[in-house]
Amino acid sequence: MSLPSSVKYLVIGAGIHGLSSAWHLAKEQSAAGETPDVLVIDKTGVGAGASGIACGVVRNNYYQPAMSELMAANVEVWEQDPAAFSYHPVGYVALGAERQVSDLTEVHERQQNIGYPSQLIVGEREVRDYMLGMFPDWRAQGVHVCLHEQKGGFANNMASLQGLAGKATAAGARLMDGVRVTGFEFDGSGAVTTVHTDQGDIQAEQVIVGVGPWVEEIWTMLGLPNRLDVRTPEGEVHRDQNMWTYWYLQEGEIDVDPKLLSLEDGSMPPVLHVDSDAPLYDDERTLITDEFWGNYFKQDLHGVQGGAAPVVVGETFQVDPYPTASVQEGFADMWCASLSHCMKRFEGKRATYKNIRSGGVGCFTVDSFPVFDYMLPNVYVIADSNHGYKMIGVGREVARVVTGGHSSLLSPFRYERFATGDLHPVSNSPYPWS
Ligand SMILES: Cc1cc2nc3c(=O)[nH]c(=O)nc-3n(C[C@H](O)[C@H](O)[C@H](O)COP(=O)(O)OP(=O)(O)OC[C@H]3O[C@@H](n4cnc5c(N)ncnc54)[C@H](O)[C@@H]3O)c2cc1C
Repeated sequence: MSLPSSVKYLVIGAGIHGLSSAWHLAKEQSAAGETPDVLVIDKTGVGAGASGIACGVVRNNYYQPAMSELMAANVEVWEQDPAAFSYHPVGYVALGAERQVSDLTEVHERQQNIGYPSQLIVGEREVRDYMLGMFPDWRAQGVHVCLHEQKGGFANNMASLQGLAGKATAAGARLMDGVRVTGFEFDGSGAVTTVHTDQGDIQAEQVIVGVGPWVEEIWTMLGLPNRLDVRTPEGEVHRDQNMWTYWYLQEGEIDVDPKLLSLEDGSMPPVLHVDSDAPLYDDERTLITDEFWGNYFKQDLHGVQGGAAPVVVGETFQVDPYPTASVQEGFADMWCASLSHCMKRFEGKRATYKNIRSGGVGCFTVDSFPVFDYMLPNVYVIADSNHGYKMIGVGREVARVVTGGHSSLLSPFRYERFATGDLHPVSNSPYPWS
């Protein structure tokens, strides 16, 4: 297939957002009696970016009301076709330190209000008993609160993207690999008229940008500001902030029988996420950290997979090629120690740590929450601030907006919040995305 000279909807990026947007745009067009005219272009191919490497956790443990409501909508989309999306609805358990009791209690209350099923357990002893009910060798320390979300779970990254790509093409969207956007031309109103690519030019009525961690590059090509003033909810103005910051996501896997992490009846357990301020030692009793630490882990196809809190790598994109598919030195020791801290079954498993394609760089916005907005008259930008593999439903909302509708779910993520001070509340989690 060669690049057409024009298209109604041009989607840049075949990750979770680009593919979901294309699928839903094609459906919207068909529903309106039009022939779908949607083209997704990707400089490499389906799942070449962050979506193809994500751990795949689907959860709703968000302290911010707008994130929580959006996540509930995303879970609805995952549940539409678990087989096609390689989605495992095993639920999600978030365990926190004493300082997180109020945050998780608020999250739980909000989930009750929006009808998202979850259970809250508070108190060190109560939490331990609850976890022992699932895992008889549970032994994590410093854990005072547990939020067990009955919905959510995880999906297998590449399989889910192939499923989504299949849905997009079945609905009438076209996908083209190996087409890299190199620039734009604009009319007097600031709207994009022509998109330059390394395979030629294309005219588009509407452009949807879903380029994950490469967003700064496209943002700059669009002439959008990489520095800005940010007003806090209290009215204070932080001048000349960087729009983007890069974090290194640390993830890995141990090469064990996946059943090592089964429940007693042999079934797949929920995804587990532990934040603790108990000192973390390895199996030889060497201190790994006495600072607040966090981990997450799940049963995977070939072992047990998960990660730990990320580290900032700076305000410029210097890690090339992306995703780096690697982790920093020390991660394997920390993560394996944290598994063993949680359950005796992981004792001695550091030796089984696998150096596989995992981990990578995420691009975060200035407040660490997504920007979903029209940034130019006909350019809609999906900059998910690395929240997004789980956000399979954002494309549905984007398609609604781009075809002339409104999305109350996306509205809290408009760019103008940085000027108005309508920022999202911040939690006590060690993660920039909770
Ligand atoms: C290690 C890691 C683990 C993660 N784990 C989770 C998790 O468990 N759960 C979760 O919800 N989120 C997770 N995330 C975050 C999540 O992966 C991202 O937020 C999400 O996948 C971004 O999706 P996207 O569609 O915006 O971008 P991507 O999936 O990165 O896709 C962007 C695409 O754009 C293409 N592209 C870029 N520039 C151009 C250009 N100039 N021209 C044409 N094409 C271009 C790329 O080739 C790429 O295929 C994780 C991220 C990382 C790095």
